[in-house]
Amino acid sequence: MAGLPTLLCYGRSPDRAIIVGRGLETGPSTERAWRARSETGPSPRRKGPAQAPGLWPVSRLCYAMAGLLTGPSSGAVRDRPEHETGPSTERRVELSVYAGKFLRVDLTEGTWHDESIGEEQVKKWLLGSGFAARLFYDEMDPLPDPLDPANPLLIFNGVLAGTFAPTGCRSSWCGRSPLTGIWNEANLGGHWGADLRFAGYDGLVITGRAEKPVYLWINGVDGTVELRDASHLWGKDYFETSDTLLTETDPRAQVSGIGPAGENLVKIAGVMSGPSHYVRAAARGGMGALLGSKNLKAIVVRGKERPQYPDPKAFRDEVKAQNTFIKENSVGMSNFGTAGGVIATEKFGDLPMRNWTLGSWDEAEKVSGQAIYDKYLVRHTYCHACPIGCGKEVEVVEGKYKTPRGEGVEYETIAGFAGMTRNDNAESVILANSLCNRYGLDTISTSSAIAFAMEAYERELIGPDDTGGVELRFGDPDAIIAMIEKITYRRDVGDALAEGVREAARRIGGGAETFAVHVKGMEVAYHDPRAFVSMAVNYATANRGGCHLEALSYWNGYGVHHSDLGYSETLPYHESNAEQAKLAYDYQNFMSVYNPLGLCKFIAKGLVGPERIAQIVNSALGWNWTADDVLTMGERLFQLKRLINLRLGVTAADDTLPKRLLAEPRPTGDAAGVLPDLEAMLPVYYRLRDWDENGAPRRSRLEQLGLV
Ligand code: SF4
Repeated sequence: MAGLPTLLCYGRSPDRAIIVGRGLETGPSTERAWRARSETGPSPRRKGPAQAPGLWPVSRLCYAMAGLLTGPSSGAVRDRPEHETGPSTERRVELSVYAGKFLRVDLTEGTWHDESIGEEQVKKWLLGSGFAARLFYDEMDPLPDPLDPANPLLIFNGVLAGTFAPTGCRSSWCGRSPLTGIWNEANLGGHWGADLRFAGYDGLVITGRAEKPVYLWINGVDGTVELRDASHLWGKDYFETSDTLLTETDPRAQVSGIGPAGENLVKIAGVMSGPSHYVRAAARGGMGALLGSKNLKAIVVRGKERPQYPDPKAFRDEVKAQNTFIKENSVGMSNFGTAGGVIATEKFGDLPMRNWTLGSWDEAEKVSGQAIYDKYLVRHTYCHACPIGCGKEVEVVEGKYKTPRGEGVEYETIAGFAGMTRNDNAESVILANSLCNRYGLDTISTSSAIAFAMEAYERELIGPDDTGGVELRFGDPDAIIAMIEKITYRRDVGDALAEGVREAARRIGGGAETFAVHVKGMEVAYHDPRAFVSMAVNYATANRGGCHLEALSYWNGYGVHHSDLGYSETLPYHESNAEQAKLAYDYQNFMSVYNPLGLCKFIAKGLVGPERIAQIVNSALGWNWTADDVLTMGERLFQLKRLINLRLGVTAADDTLPKRLLAEPRPTGDAAGVLPDLEAMLPVYYRLRDWDENGAPRRSRLEQLGLV
C-alpha cells in the first residue's frame, strides 16, 4: 500500500512468539531497580485444571475441546509444557505500577500462556489501546471477516489502571470492529480493569473459538486461570449472567461479558461489566459480537496484589492535589453526570433530534439529567479511584416503564432514546437504557438504528410487515422498547438494524443511505458537527469512525479550556477555518493518551490538561514527561491506528461525513443554517498530520514519531 513504511509490513509468522519477541521486545526490564521481577519470558506461573468440586475442570474442558479425553499427558496440550497443571512455586508477590505481562489465550485449543511486556515498550506505546494497537499491527492479518475466529480480541489496561491515580480504572477492548471492519477500541470503566491488574495482568489477547460456550476465570488470589463451561449461561441476559458468575466464582470478583445481543452476533453489541445494579460498558464498535463469535460469554477476574510505586509518598501527594483540583472543576458532572448537559446541548444546537433533522426542542428539559435524577436517583456511583462519580444509580418503582435498580442514563443515551427518537417520556428512556445493559447493546448505535428505522417507516420504505406489526413512529416509547428486543434477537427488520445503519440502509434500499448517519460504518455520536464544526474534522478522521471521544473538541465551545494545549478562550465554532481544523488535531492527539494511560477523559473536562497528565504520570512511574511528551505520544498512537486502518482498506475518500451533516442545515435554534465546510478544513488537517493525498502519513513524520 502506498505510503506505508516497509519496516512495518504485516505478515503472520508461523511462530507468534517470534513476532512478539521481535516487535515488542518481550522480557523484563533491567532498568527498574525498584521493580522486583524474576521471570525472563513466558511466566512459569500458571495452573491448569480447576479443582473445586462441581466446577468444570479446565483439563476436561481443554481435552474435550480437542477431542482428547485421555488427560494431560496426551494431545495438543501435551506439546505446550507451559500449560502443565499444578500450583506455581514461583508466584510473584510484588508488582510494579503495571504488571509487565499479558495472558494469551487460544480458545480453539483451550490453551493459554503468559507473555512479558518490557518497560521500553511501555515507554513507547504505553499500554491500553496503545500497546494493543502495536501488537495488532505486528500480528494483523486483514481477514475478510472480522468475526473469523482467528481475529484477535485484545484487552489491555491502561498503564495507571488499578492505581489510585484520578480515574485510574480504564481498560481498552480492541481489535477489528465487527461493525466497521476497521480498528476499534471500546473503553471500559468500573472496576474490572483494576482487578485484572490486581490479578497480575496488564491484558489479554484472545483468539480462536471455543467448541462450546466458555467463560474465563482469572483468579489472582489463588494464582489460577481456568476456562469453564458456560453452556448454562448461553442465552441468559447480562444481569443474570453477572450475578450467576459472582456466585460461581467469588462474590468480590469483577465480571465483564455479553448478553444475548453479543451471542446473536449483533454488530452493535457491547461488552457489559459489573453486577446487575452497576453496569459499565465497553460499548462501541460491536465488541460484544467479537466475544460471541468466540463462544466466550464472560471474563471474570479477581486479584489481591496492589501496584508498587517508586515514590509512594510523592504519588500520594500528587493524587491528593489533583483530586482536589478535579473535584472543584467537576461539580456538575458529580451532581448530574453527563446527563446534566442535555439542556445546554439543546440550547447550542448540539443535541441531535429526530434522526438529525430538527434544530430545537422545547421538551428537552423533561429528559434532562436534572429532571431525571431529581426524581429517580438512588445513589451516585464511582469507578475505581474516581474523584468525580458521574455514575448515577436509578430506579423506576412502578408504572408502565418500571425499571429495576441499575445504572442511570448518560447524555448520549438520552440524546438517542429521547432526542433522536423524539421521545419525551423520561421513564421510558431509563427502561431503554436498562434493556440495552441487560441485552448487551451500545445505546448510541441502537438508538441511532431505531431513529433511522423510524424515518424509513415514515417514508414508507418499511411497513408493519417488516416491523412485526410495530407502528414505528417518532415519539412512541413503546415502539422504541419493542425495537430494542427485535434488534437483540434479530427479529423482523431488527435483523437488518442489528448490522448497523450502513448495512441496514443497503438492505432496505430506496435511497435509505441518504439518512443513515454514520462515518466509516459507525453511527455518529450525539454531538452535532453543525454546531461545533471542529467535530466535522474529528468525525471524518477519527480512527474508529463516528466517534466523539477521539477529540471532544466541542468542549472548547462550551468553555472548557486547556491553556497548556494552547486554548485559553472559546474559538468561533461555526466558522469552518484553519483554527477549527487545528482544534480537532490538537484534541485528537491529547485524547489519544487517555485510554493507553487508563484514565477517564472526564478529568479533562475537569480541566486536567497535558501538563497535569505529565505530573500524574511522573509521580506514579518515576518518569520525566513534559506536556510535549504527552502530545507526541498521542500523535504517535493516533498515526499508528491510521496505519492499521490503511491496511484494512481505509482511503482518503472515507474521510468524510454523511450528506445529512454536510448539506442539510438545522432549521432552527442556535446552529440554524450552519454547515461545516469539510473541503476547507480537511486539507489543513492533512497538512498538520503530514498525510499525503491518499490519506497516508508520510515517512518523514513516521520517522519523527518512531514508527519506522
Ligand atoms: S468520571 Fe464517571 S465514567 Fe469517569 S471514572 Fe469517574 S465515574 Fe467513571
